[in-house]
Amino acid sequence: MAIAEELEISRFLKDQPKKLFIGGKWVEAASGKTFDTQDPSTGEVLARVAEGAAEDIDRAVVAARKAHDSGVWRDLPPSERAKVLWRAGDLIEERAMEFAQLDSLDNGKPINEMLLFDVPLAAATFRYYAGWVTKLTGETQQTSFPGKYLSYTLREPIGVVGAIVPWNFPLLMESWKVAPALACGNTVILKPAEETPLSALLLAEILQEADLPAGVFNVVTGFGETAGARLAEHPGVDKIAFTGSTEVGKKILHAATGNLKRVSLELGGKSPNIIFSDAQLDRAASGAFLGIFFNQGEVCSAGSRLFVQDKVYEQTLAELAKTAGEIQLGPGIDSMTQMGPLVSQTQMERVLGYIQVGSDEGARLVTGGKRATGHGGGYFIEPTVFADVDGRMRIAQEEIFGPVLAAIPFTDEDDLVAKANDSIYGLVAGVWTRDVKRAHRVAHKLQAGTVYVNCYNVADPATPWGGYKQSGWGRELGPYALDLYTEVKNVIVDLAE
Ligand code: ADP
Repeated sequence: MAIAEELEISRFLKDQPKKLFIGGKWVEAASGKTFDTQDPSTGEVLARVAEGAAEDIDRAVVAARKAHDSGVWRDLPPSERAKVLWRAGDLIEERAMEFAQLDSLDNGKPINEMLLFDVPLAAATFRYYAGWVTKLTGETQQTSFPGKYLSYTLREPIGVVGAIVPWNFPLLMESWKVAPALACGNTVILKPAEETPLSALLLAEILQEADLPAGVFNVVTGFGETAGARLAEHPGVDKIAFTGSTEVGKKILHAATGNLKRVSLELGGKSPNIIFSDAQLDRAASGAFLGIFFNQGEVCSAGSRLFVQDKVYEQTLAELAKTAGEIQLGPGIDSMTQMGPLVSQTQMERVLGYIQVGSDEGARLVTGGKRATGHGGGYFIEPTVFADVDGRMRIAQEEIFGPVLAAIPFTDEDDLVAKANDSIYGLVAGVWTRDVKRAHRVAHKLQAGTVYVNCYNVADPATPWGGYKQSGWGRELGPYALDLYTEVKNVIVDLAE
């Protein structure tokens, strides 16, 4: 097994096989089975992990339910709960290098991105929701019903929350669900993606160290079709929070109908990044570049459809091709790396398949288009740009989830808005222009949960996150997430003498 001995994370990796975390204890899967997680920059095994399945989810539900019903978490004074979450943020920051190395090795992503983006944002998310614990309030209502009444609302935890997360930002996606769910007083069962199961286990260590009571947070590593599916359909789970593909999101929705559990979904995207000819072009081109190639394009909000006004179309393409040619590919764990491998062989083959589709559909290949060789067995793909893409082509309609950009020219604002909204998705959009009126006008017309103006991929725990159309249900982050993790109770008291 390839374990980088000199890394901070080698202690964690050496302790093998990794176990499930249920009811405050590290336990093996009921079946005794394990599975391997790979380092995608080499294709070698990184660690062996317990293969949790239905029986293990059932055990975790019993533990999470017991913890919830006991009141050990929900009934703690809010200031005490806040302390635990704040401490978790501190511990993530203290162990930033371990988290960075772990997700970088497991996912392939550049370690600098982990240190500058994923880890600080995960710590900030715990702190942000630590702040909300003491500020969860209800309201009073004016009633006109005959008589005199006091009507008020309470926000109560929903109960047992199942969190199912993807592999593209493992720690960060975990924190986006776990922090608000805990802040609202719920107990949680986390099912990380099978491709990147490790950081969830380090998070369990940290939450234990932060004095979160046993059973309040549980981790079951395992596969989507077994562990994930059982969590989604389990009658003892009150809410599922899911981030992943639209296809699996729909399966989760079906599975949740048994007990009508609450469901929030953050799904796919095919986001338009739009450059008007009056934009500051150097910034717009680098925004377009980062919009698609950040995190190898494995980003639900990737700006994978680039709309460029015809006057500056060829110039922008030339700039993109030049920068793409200079990007440093390599293992994520190497601090010189700007773009890592894709997460798995399956994902690499899927993306290469789409590149073939783009060529077959007649799009013009400007740069890239192949597996990048010279990196051993790693799953690297060259940053790829297709031009002259027609909006009806599959590479303009389907989420590729890799470093493949579809550039589409447009003439004016009306032409642009129609083309940009021609998608089943509506997660984010980017608009690059110096005209402030146009910026707002277009932002209002775009069907997207977030519109970035002269920026892209700005992420903050305070800003809502989620999509229109088939990009999902509900908004994570900000105060909006409090709605996802609480039930509202109305109490009406007769005040008549
Ligand atoms: P991606 O396209 O990013 O791989 P997926 O939607 O396939 O995303 O996976 C996201 C998460 O959903 C992972 O944790 C995966 O294990 C889980 N998952 C996959 N299939 C199912 C399913 N049928 N039920 C519940 N969870 C699933």
